[in-house]
Amino acid sequence: MICFTTFELMNFLENFSLKKHNTFGIDAKAKYFSEFISVSELKDILNSEIYSNNKTFVLGEGSNILLTKDFEGLIMHNKINGICILEDHENSIIVEVGGGVNWNDFVMWSVSQELSGIENLALIPGTVGASPVQNIGAYGMEVKESISKVHAFNIKTRKSEIFSNEDCNFEYRNSIFKGEVKNKFIITKVEFELSKTPLNKTTYGAIQEELKTLNLRENPKNIAKAVINIRSRKLPDPQVLGNSGSFFKNPIIKTERFNKLKKEFPNIVGYKISETKTKLAAGWLIDNAGLKGYRKGDAGVHKNQALVLVNYGNASGQDIINLSKKVQHTILEKYGIAIEPEVNLL
Ligand SMILES: Cc1cc2nc3c(=O)[nH]c(=O)nc-3n(C[C@H](O)[C@H](O)[C@H](O)COP(=O)(O)OP(=O)(O)OC[C@H]3O[C@@H](n4cnc5c(N)ncnc54)[C@H](O)[C@@H]3O)c2cc1C
Repeated sequence: MICFTTFELMNFLENFSLKKHNTFGIDAKAKYFSEFISVSELKDILNSEIYSNNKTFVLGEGSNILLTKDFEGLIMHNKINGICILEDHENSIIVEVGGGVNWNDFVMWSVSQELSGIENLALIPGTVGASPVQNIGAYGMEVKESISKVHAFNIKTRKSEIFSNEDCNFEYRNSIFKGEVKNKFIITKVEFELSKTPLNKTTYGAIQEELKTLNLRENPKNIAKAVINIRSRKLPDPQVLGNSGSFFKNPIIKTERFNKLKKEFPNIVGYKISETKTKLAAGWLIDNAGLKGYRKGDAGVHKNQALVLVNYGNASGQDIINLSKKVQHTILEKYGIAIEPEVNLL
């Protein structure tokens, strides 16, 4: 078993700027901020007076949060490191990954080992520990397809527990960690089963086209490369323009209702996801409502991706919230559809 881990000492920082800890680049402060690199350090934090006397929030890389104001409590930043191969089978491996590992670093590790199962999820920002929370997905793949177990620390009992894939209740951008047990568990490690046989899921989006343009054959490494190219062209880089990816979830409606909407809006975009349900492209709804590129102050709807709200520089969390409410209201008025934020509001 090969594991790589870093060690440093736990401490609490006060009145800490979170600007570099959220991809929206919102300049809000935390009353207290502390990092943990192991379960034992996490226990130390949970046993501290600062923990007992304050509200708390578990933070990964802040790529799916919107800080609406200063956080008057303790932010606990997951930095648990390490990638360990637990089992090596004929067709697959089981790998255990620290919750603080950068997601894309793990994808790059996986493809460098010629393993398959997460390559389509390349370049999604954030940590491995947050990946099960909203069951990250892109380009025809969801992380639930590769997760075998989630190790999570029960804050009440102060014991580590293991959730099987089934226990996680994974759904589209959802899991038990966003619902039933929200704020009750801290994900410390995730186990993945990765295939030694390439899955080569290339039918979604423009992956095949991109591989052709690059003159590359289908394999996990090349698929990751194609996805990275496509994503870099399509999505604003948070280092350049603050954002948290898709701000809203794609709403799921009855297909019957979709067919009625289609009569009124012949170009409306939807994908049938079951016998009776259709998932609508929220980006199309926003774009067709004339809001793509809309800007108020430093808060805006991205000029190419209507689903992405952006911070042009000095927008506050409240500016982004006001914009999101305007978008929601417009969509409800125009189509009678309520769209919900995918992003966690803090
Ligand atoms: C440019 C851009 C593109 C994106 N593209 C996609 C995409 O294609 N698909 C997709 O699914 N998402 C996408 N996202 C959203 C984001 O990358 C994912 O949701 C990611 O998993 C968030 O990871 P994080 O570490 O930044 O979590 P954070 O934003 O820090 O936290 C998100 C939530 O998870 C909770 N959380 C974090 N870590 C833990 C833990 N260890 N234990 C318990 N709870 C925890 C937090 O409390 C919070 O509620 C994108 C974001 C950006 C900025």
